Amino acid sequence: MKKIEIIKPDDWHVHFREGLFLEKLVPETSKLFNRAIVMPNLTFPIVSSNQASEYKKQLLDFSKNNEYFEPLMTLYLNEEIDIKDLIKAYENKIIFAVKLYPAGATTNSSKGVKDITKTYKILEAMCKCKIPLLIHGEVNNKEIDVFDREKVFIDNELTQICKEFPNLKITLEHITTKYAVQFVNNTKRNLKASITPHHLILNRSDMLEHTIKPHYYCLPILKREEDRKALLSAAFNTNKKFFMGTDSAPHDIKNKEADCGCAGIFNTINCIQVLAQVFENNRQLNMLENFISVNGALHYELPLNSEKIRLKKVKDPINFPNVLKINNFKIKVFKPNFKIFWQLES
Ligand SMILES: [Zn+2]
Repeated sequence: MKKIEIIKPDDWHVHFREGLFLEKLVPETSKLFNRAIVMPNLTFPIVSSNQASEYKKQLLDFSKNNEYFEPLMTLYLNEEIDIKDLIKAYENKIIFAVKLYPAGATTNSSKGVKDITKTYKILEAMCKCKIPLLIHGEVNNKEIDVFDREKVFIDNELTQICKEFPNLKITLEHITTKYAVQFVNNTKRNLKASITPHHLILNRSDMLEHTIKPHYYCLPILKREEDRKALLSAAFNTNKKFFMGTDSAPHDIKNKEADCGCAGIFNTINCIQVLAQVFENNRQLNMLENFISVNGALHYELPLNSEKIRLKKVKDPINFPNVLKINNFKIKVFKPNFKIFWQLES
């Protein structure tokens, strides 16, 4: 029987939503991870330290199954952010990073950034105080094809941000293209990238071939097979520029299987086991720990977790629950297109 032991991972990008969802979702994350960067795109986005602190309290209430768990809070970037409030919140460890959503690019992002140059004062302050900038790297422009939006963002916006703020610590989040992998690999600046489990596993044909699979619909949208392969080699790379952010993004099943289905994949429950399988299938199991437990902490200059997790390989494929129920809501659990034989030992 095959067993591996690795440093306990962190999730560098997660959506907990709000209200009823928190009680069920937060403990699913806190039992598996010691830290999680929490996205601020709630119905009322988190734009002040008070909101972040209030939200953080709620998260800590629901994460008592792991005494080490630390939710790392983000502030939703827009032109009106109070710079003094931001700096104070960062110094007091209420806020960990700032998140840039181009307006309208994804769920609850209508109040995001329309013109990046109008946030330069904020970025300047972040640079000085070493506050990381997390970026949803897609333009939101009807004239740009949805499959090209990451590339256009890199060319038109990110290149400019990197040039103006060479010392700003930047995470290009949930990258999806070969182009983004090359950009991150070729830039010497303080820029790294996160990759989701589902973008390592699926391409757009998996979502669209013969029948449409709403549970594979996410943003940024799945891309070509050559992109997926580039993401895989980035994840297996030894240059430490790439790490896991699950982008686990739950929606009620009714809002996924609808005329206008929401974007987002919920993978918290099985992401570690699924990734162990992906890495093993590609004979890269020895690189798993770097990708899920090491590279992100190095980028954010945080200590590695001292706890460990153990995975064991079992004979029969594991059946994960199909849905997570929260009162009358049902959240579909991510189902990859291959069998999983890796089990987490508690
Ligand atoms: Zn996200």
